Amino acid sequence: MSVLVHLCRVCGHQSAWHEGGNGGYTPCWCCRAGTADPDPAPTLLPTTSSPHGIPEELWQPGTQRNAGTMHASRTCACAACREAAEGMAAGTTRREHPLAAPRLVGLSGR
Ligand SMILES: [Zn+2]
Ligand SMILES: [Zn+2]
Ligand SMILES: [Zn+2]
Repeated sequence: MSVLVHLCRVCGHQSAWHEGGNGGYTPCWCCRAGTADPDPAPTLLPTTSSPHGIPEELWQPGTQRNAGTMHASRTCACAACREAAEGMAAGTTRREHPLAAPRLVGLSGR
């Protein structure tokens, strides 16, 4: 699943990497210091499903990820992220599925 993240303007890593406990996983001095300078505009981290390379759906802002594991986290739900998610939903990812239309033909006689 693709996610929207805020990147640190100092080191370019996700602001979440600067939070407590995650610093041990990276050699980055900025992340280890625990003080991010997050860019207010979210960045899309696209993921693709293997093996077909199809772009995956976007986690909606505020979604709980990996609940119940040590990697549990919640996607950012700030105004900028919501706006970006809505823009994507209204744009390229939106498509009318023919099966979504109500089918009334043929119901009355059976
Ligand atoms: Zn940083
Ligand atoms: Zn960093
Ligand atoms: Zn955000």
